[in-house]
Amino acid sequence: MTKKEFKAESKRLLEMMVNSIYSQKEIFVRELISNASDAIDKMYYKALTDDSISFNQDDFFIRVSSDKTARTLTIEDTGIGMTEDELERNLGTIAESGSLAFKKENEVKDGHDIIGQFGVGFYSAFMAADRVTVETKSIHSDQAFRWESDGVDGYTIEPSDKKAAGTTITVHLKDNGEEDSYDEFLEENRLKTIIKKYSDFIRYPILMNVTVQ
Ligand code: ADP
Ligand code: MG
Repeated sequence: MTKKEFKAESKRLLEMMVNSIYSQKEIFVRELISNASDAIDKMYYKALTDDSISFNQDDFFIRVSSDKTARTLTIEDTGIGMTEDELERNLGTIAESGSLAFKKENEVKDGHDIIGQFGVGFYSAFMAADRVTVETKSIHSDQAFRWESDGVDGYTIEPSDKKAAGTTITVHLKDNGEEDSYDEFLEENRLKTIIKKYSDFIRYPILMNVTVQ
């Protein structure tokens, strides 16, 4: 498995993102949930024009889990997922928005729900993470993939055995000690507050799961 380098511009942009665009680190939770919601909306739009895709509202959800022992925060969705090419394009190139492209290709009119457009929100995860793992399976592919990055020198992509379509993003929280702590993102009540604050308008159920040990 070879490690691919972010382009130089992307490296600079990533540093800027992580350090200055967002003033509060908690907003990475909002960004990942909005991406999950966009991925489910894409299923909805595909189902409108493709008879082979059915959309039963009850099958679609976003699940936020934290694991205090592993120090991870996980955001899982049952949305459209990404192919290997899409992973490469959307997460390997900063400021590349697959959602903007989707809205254009599918002539999704203004006022619709897909939120993404700038192609930077995902990287806000590196404000709180020293490593991010994305496991994803596209509805258009039989093979799932795992993308992983420490945000600094690049990313890897390898096959994964994820069975269901959708995406699971695991944020490995930084462990910098008390002065610069990220433990709040493991706490159920804190997570609920953040989710209520920023994700009230999300139309899909957001489930929650906290593992203490
Ligand atoms: P934006 O949401 O503005 O497009 P992001 O940086 O948040 O930018 O995400 C980049 C792209 O990565 C998205 O446009 C989308 O194509 C893809 N992506 C991110 N998260 C997911 C997800 N959970 N499921 C499917 N695709 C995703
Ligand atoms: Mg986004």
